[in-house]
Parts: sequence; C-alpha cells; structure tokens
Amino acid sequence: MEFKNLKELMTYLKDEDVCREYYAQLRWGGNPTCPHCNAPRPYKLKGGKLYRCSDKTCKKNFTVTVKTIFEKSKIPLATWMGSMFLITAHKKGISSCQLARDMGITQKTAWFILHRIRYIMGDPAPEPLENTVEIDETYVGGKFKNMHLDRRKKYQELNMDNKVGIMGMLERDGKARLTVIGNSSWKDVIRENVNSSALLMTDTHLSYQGLIYEFAGHTTVNHSQGQYRDGMTYTNTVEGFFSSLKRSIYGIYHQISPKHLQQYCEETSYRYNTRKITDKERFVNSLSNADGYRLTYKKLTQKL
Ligand SMILES: [Zn+2]
Repeated sequence: MEFKNLKELMTYLKDEDVCREYYAQLRWGGNPTCPHCNAPRPYKLKGGKLYRCSDKTCKKNFTVTVKTIFEKSKIPLATWMGSMFLITAHKKGISSCQLARDMGITQKTAWFILHRIRYIMGDPAPEPLENTVEIDETYVGGKFKNMHLDRRKKYQELNMDNKVGIMGMLERDGKARLTVIGNSSWKDVIRENVNSSALLMTDTHLSYQGLIYEFAGHTTVNHSQGQYRDGMTYTNTVEGFFSSLKRSIYGIYHQISPKHLQQYCEETSYRYNTRKITDKERFVNSLSNADGYRLTYKKLTQKL
C-alpha cells in the first residue's frame, strides 16, 4: 500500500475487507496462526472473516483482530487505522476532542481509541540505554489552583504533595526514556534503564552520588551554582524532553491521573524515539505492535 498522508490512507482503506486483508498481511505475512495456541494453518470458514484453529485440542474460532487492541470493539478497522495514523503522526500528541473532530467520531470513542493505541506505544522489551546518557528528574501535577476544592482540601490536610516524580534518561543522539519514579530509589531507576558501560551526566543532586562506582563514568553540572554546561557535560537535551512531556500534559491533555502517567511518559518517549522516521513508517510500525502487548492484555481489556 502506497500512501503518504491520511487522505491517501483512507482512500485505500475503503472498506472493512480491505482493512482486514491489509492487517492480516501485516500480522501474519500470509501464514495465519491461531492467536490462542499459535498453531499454524487454520481452516478458513466461509465468508472469509473467520478462521478455525486446526489444532485438535484448541479448535477455537478467531478473526484477525483477536488478541489485538482492536478486539471486542465495534469501531470499524478503517477508523482505528486512520486514528492510529493521526495519533502517531502528531508531534505533540492529540486530544480526544481533536481526534473526534478529525475522524468524525464521538469523543467517547476517540478517548477509547487513544487509550488503547497509547498501550502499544511503549516498548515491551526496551534495551538499556548506552553511550552518553543525560539524566534528570522532574515533577508533574500538583497544580492546586486547578483542583476541585474537596480534593485540594484532602491533599492539604494530608500534607501530601500531589506531585509525581519522573526520571528522564536520554542517550545523546539516540533513544530516550521517561519513568515514573514511584517507590524506587533514583539509583534503582537508573540501574534498570541504563547499561553500566554508559557515561552519565546529571546535576549534583545527592541522590546521584556514588553512581561513578557503578557506571563507566559520571560527570555533573552544578545547577544550584548556576552552572549549566561544563564542556561536554550538560543535561539540556533531557530537560528539553521534559518540556515536551509537560506541553502534552498541560497543553493537550489538560490533566491526567497519576495512574495513567506512565502511559503518557511512554507516549512522549515513543514520539521522541521515532522522530527520524516518516509518518508512514511510524504508522506501519505501530500497527505491527497492535498484537504485541500480551502482558498488559488483561489490564487493557478491563472495563475502562
Ligand atoms: Zn488454536
């Protein structure tokens, strides 16, 4: 399929059969396998849409959307795919209101689509970051003035900081990752995401001290002393990356609950990590991941 933009894509995906065929090729490459037991060569039942597993103990029926993010939704595949193109092509993310207007769907449907597509934007098996890695932390949320009075009172009574800490880690000229810090220590977050062969660059915060003994190198800039660059040592790139996360959260999504924050982090990282490929490549890449989220399947299909 040749297309460069949404209009050409939608012209090609003119009906459900074309969409199914296209996705079946991408998912199975002409050799359908049972999504329940991975058995090859299922029977094709009449009508063409339905398959039956040829394994004697399985024998289950399935379609190409079983165990994908498209499963159990009445939304046409063309709407899914068009939305996927729009969502992944937008450099700063797209709100459910905007997606609803662009695709001619209700906001509720748009919200549902966004939620599911966001799940496949994360890298299920990320490689540790390498080479020169800038690391910094930031906090999001905590805008009490925008909060409902009852909730604000509750937070203030508990003396609880409504902010959530996020660790940003970014390879210079490479990949980036954002992780909600949660209950882990900063060092544990870094250990989980960065290869010990890397050269780390951070500010002089105490929580980063000692990393030099575990990694190939660790240089710092002293932000509290007004120092932002020392030769090749700086964290400006990762700080810029935080800005795009915050622009998405405050500018496009307005407010998000802490429980969804990691998903927004994944989405921002995804956009950054695919910045050098075309919109079409990004679309095909995302669509190929539509069945690659089995670990979170249960979570995904629970009632939203
Ligand atoms: Zn089977």
